[in-house]
Amino acid sequence: MHIVVLAGGVGGARFLRGVLAAVPAAEVTAVVNTGDDVTLHGLRICPDLDTVMYTLGDGIDEERGWGRRGESWTVKDELAAYGAEPTWFGLGDRDLATHLVRTRMLDAGYPLSDVTAALAERWQPGVRLLPMSDQRVETHVVVTDPGTGRPQAIHFQEWWVRHRAALDAQAFVQVGVDDARPGPGVVEALTSADAVLFAPSNPVVSIGTVLGVPGIRDAVRAAAGRVVGVSPIVEGAALRGMADRCLPVVGVEVSAEGVGRHYGARSADGVLDAWLVHTGDQASVPGVDVRAVPLLMSDPEATRALARAALDAAGV
Ligand code: GDP
Ligand code: CA
Repeated sequence: MHIVVLAGGVGGARFLRGVLAAVPAAEVTAVVNTGDDVTLHGLRICPDLDTVMYTLGDGIDEERGWGRRGESWTVKDELAAYGAEPTWFGLGDRDLATHLVRTRMLDAGYPLSDVTAALAERWQPGVRLLPMSDQRVETHVVVTDPGTGRPQAIHFQEWWVRHRAALDAQAFVQVGVDDARPGPGVVEALTSADAVLFAPSNPVVSIGTVLGVPGIRDAVRAAAGRVVGVSPIVEGAALRGMADRCLPVVGVEVSAEGVGRHYGARSADGVLDAWLVHTGDQASVPGVDVRAVPLLMSDPEATRALARAALDAAGV
């Protein structure tokens, strides 16, 4: 059995862990958002790929949800002592080795997909880890410059990490997306998979960015297996995250129904066959098989059961 999961960072990684526990014998491909990627201090950083890789490779700091367990921050402190900007992005000493290896390989001309495969050699995540694209696609956020009152675009990481998504966003812009192509293997995986699952990742800046790469949305729509999404919105709020700051920007109501309708039915011009909402949440999404199951990935067993419910909805 071959299962493809579209994933962002923390929500994607946790859900993937559940899928691996639910069907240990399955071949699992993760197509991961790279719209959060950023270059800082000359290093190329891929937050969502690293979160998935560290989580599935048992190197994640479970409490923070990102970065390495047992991390130290000597380099960060030394950079701050030089006044080297930016100081708001936490780069741990252990984590830095990943970015050094990645940047060196990218500079030598290897595409991100090859670099990711090389990094995964060490971590053995148990899934095929595919960046959504080898081309750079960076999410920028249009905000109002408090000084001039004029619109200004800042990198998504600056909005998310530095400003904690507190600045009102007018729009998200996927810089580079028009020239991007799906990464090697992405379209083939999607069209041939027995099931395609959307992790409960951010629908706008994680799943939305993956689907925005020209060719990926069409490949999902052409998938041979059923396409099942999991709501990141539970009881009208985003869990551990600020997805509720993103949805209104693209005109989507912060509810399981709102997100389900935003994705839409594959039988119309959307991407879903089935949609999982949290027990007690209501959602009517025309043309979509909506099922209510517990969606809290609070422990390994609950996460496995959620993945099992998604696979059931996919009929595999
Ligand atoms: P990021 O890239 O690290 O921001 O992570 P993702 O985009 O993969 O996931 C963030 C989303 O995961 C948020 O919108 C949360 O609402 C959602 N999320 C986090 N934990 C849970 C959970 O236990 N259950 C569900 N259903 N969603 C969750
Ligand atoms: Ca992310």
